[in-house]
Amino acid sequence: MSNLKPEEISSILKSELENFKTQIKTESIGTVIQVGDAIARVYGLDNVMVGEIIEFPNSVFGMAVNLEEDSVGVIIFGRDNPDRNIKEGDIVKCTGKIVQVPVGEALKGRVVNALGVPIDGRGPIDTDRFRAVEFAAPDVISRQPINTPLQTGIKAVDAMIPIGRGQRELIIGDRQTGKTAVAIDAIINQKGKGVYCIYVAIGQKISSIVAVAETLKKHGAMEYTTIVSASSRASASSQYLAPYAGCAMGEEFMFKGKDVLIVYDDLSKHAQAYRQLSLLLRRPPGREAYPGDIFYLHSRLLERAAKLSDALGAGSLTALPIIETQGGDITSYIPTNVISITDGQIYLEGDLFYSGVRPAINVGLSVSRVGGKAQAKAMRRVAGKLRLDLAQYRELVTFLQFGSDLDKATQDQITRGERVVEILKQGQYVPLALSQQVLIISAAVNGYLDDLPVTQLKKFEIEFLKHMGDTYPQVAKEIDETGDLVSLNADLLKKVVEEFKAEFKKK
Ligand code: ATP
Ligand code: MG
Repeated sequence: MSNLKPEEISSILKSELENFKTQIKTESIGTVIQVGDAIARVYGLDNVMVGEIIEFPNSVFGMAVNLEEDSVGVIIFGRDNPDRNIKEGDIVKCTGKIVQVPVGEALKGRVVNALGVPIDGRGPIDTDRFRAVEFAAPDVISRQPINTPLQTGIKAVDAMIPIGRGQRELIIGDRQTGKTAVAIDAIINQKGKGVYCIYVAIGQKISSIVAVAETLKKHGAMEYTTIVSASSRASASSQYLAPYAGCAMGEEFMFKGKDVLIVYDDLSKHAQAYRQLSLLLRRPPGREAYPGDIFYLHSRLLERAAKLSDALGAGSLTALPIIETQGGDITSYIPTNVISITDGQIYLEGDLFYSGVRPAINVGLSVSRVGGKAQAKAMRRVAGKLRLDLAQYRELVTFLQFGSDLDKATQDQITRGERVVEILKQGQYVPLALSQQVLIISAAVNGYLDDLPVTQLKKFEIEFLKHMGDTYPQVAKEIDETGDLVSLNADLLKKVVEEFKAEFKKK
């Protein structure tokens, strides 16, 4: 050591100092100055980005959301008070990474949390692909009009409120009116259709989420489905993030040219979680105490649903957001916001549900603004008549209660209406193929069922469809292949139905 020359020492010192400097630059750290309600205010963290993952001690993670002049607001992820082990003075680190989730085939059949971490006890997710949870929606040039139907398997929806691949269709209604049921049936119906499904649960009881997973598994639908779960026990920040995480997982498939169906169950709770975060972050409250950017919260999520242009592989992301209303009021703040962002809504009504009309779809208030163009020809042919029969029936029912004598034409319309309403009832987990839907609806709107008692219709439907499948398999084949039905014209259908009806009545 002693034979080192002074200039050598100074050069060593210089280089050490240089290295030292670069080390300081790469690690941006800060100190917690306040923590509570899954929100931390952090001093320091220079050069932090909005949406960057922040690491707390004990592998607790958060996301930087509020960048203020001398502090940063961080939302903390996890469940059951994720901030319980964080205290004032703790050192936190920037990770340099924007929040991202694992994506790809490995997610099929898995249950993950809002950060994409598996919570189904089936080991880590084997993928090297990640996507940022926040991603700009495809622009106009990247899209094409909706042209392929997304069959839900539910007669009332596919006939009168048809959904196309890439569409955003809202499912709205009071609590316990069958909102989740519609979405789950739509997922089950995608079996064998090459559509990848994502079910995002926001703010729900863990038991409900487990029930959904069990149902999907039982019907073989988990094979092509991912569940993103942010239960009511998860922090508000996880509930806020979950739909974006699910969307990122869907986008991966969409940009690979595949078709995706994503369900956000539900966005009312999502808005509430965001309101909670915003108030804790001291952002100014607006109408109903929601922050000013509440509309943007949902529009930037739902705009990511798209049907991509052929140049981009023609993939699609269909979104079924769910909104819970209070007392059937669809004019309050969050429902009107989401109605205006989506391409239509399926409105479920408590009164209908309790009177036994299930799915409890209010046909008058439900609409699909784009899916009609994609509807199969065979269905389009009967759907117009169906709507008309229903509308006329609804109008007449109000007069019925006066008990006046009815002329024959009116009586006939009522007879028809009762049968159409009965035919549109459908149990859970029994989605019907397009061909089956077309056959039974044709029979009803053409009046071939008018002479059957309403109470017999359920039984008739099941046996008739079985009979058609066994005896005339070419009908289903034709509809499935061409989307149309020309071989079975009205006369022929009438003959077939009358023949079967004669047999049915004998029993
Ligand atoms: P929540 O507001 O609690 O989320 P929800 O609107 O999502 O409720 P569901 O949970 O889907 O409603 O359904 C409520 C109940 O109605 C469930 O018990 C479900 O099994 C039943 N149900 C839903 N649809 C049908 C149907 N088509 N036929 C028979 N029962 C149904
Ligand atoms: Mg539900």
